[in-house]
Amino acid sequence: MDFQQASTYTEPQHLLRDIASRFDRERVAISFSGAEDVVLIDMAHREGLEFNVFSLDTGRLHPETYAYFERVREHYGIAIELLMPSPAAVADLVRAKGLFSFYKDGHGECCAVRKIEPLRRKLGELDAWVTGQRKDQSVTRTDLPLEQEDRAFSTEAHRLLKFNPLADWSSRDVWAYIRTHKVPYNELHDQGYVSIGCQPCTRAVGPHEHERTGRWWWEEATARECGLHAQNVVKILG
Ligand code: SF4
Repeated sequence: MDFQQASTYTEPQHLLRDIASRFDRERVAISFSGAEDVVLIDMAHREGLEFNVFSLDTGRLHPETYAYFERVREHYGIAIELLMPSPAAVADLVRAKGLFSFYKDGHGECCAVRKIEPLRRKLGELDAWVTGQRKDQSVTRTDLPLEQEDRAFSTEAHRLLKFNPLADWSSRDVWAYIRTHKVPYNELHDQGYVSIGCQPCTRAVGPHEHERTGRWWWEEATARECGLHAQNVVKILG
């Protein structure tokens, strides 16, 4: 695998085509949950590129999000693999600390069980994953490249790449694409939600609030990564 220079790519579709040509179909996948990710799915669909798609089902998502998964699945005629946490690990956490421990001692432990462990299992099968992260989503993402080694999930024996084709896009770009191409979106966006995660850890934001203030709002801004993109935090703290 060659490590490409970010400036090689002039548009996300170009990068998606390049990813599809560089990796075996079963060794790369799009991570899907939000508005940015569905833009990637739509672009791949229009380009005739077949990407596997997975999403994290933490068991704590809004009903609207599950309905949205189903709409996307039907709209594009694709399979969406739902990654679920270990039932035993969830049971242990809930038995020890209840259902809302994240409000008291931070979201790290619950996210580790419900998101990171199932994601790590999945990424162990892949050489690369594709995300909808953008630079302007968070103070932890300002240096986000189009392509990077995923230091959070790579091991000595297994190098993993992460692609962020929309890194240079703004929220306005994403929504212009969604409206222009009539892309399905989570109906929670019409209720003031911008960045949507688990139901207990997501809230609607005001028109002048940053989108990430709707996630883990009781914690410091630099802690508002769930571990999926942990190297963003490592960078800022390290
Ligand atoms: S976002 Fe909240 S509910 Fe979801 S896994 Fe993280 S701490 Fe748990």
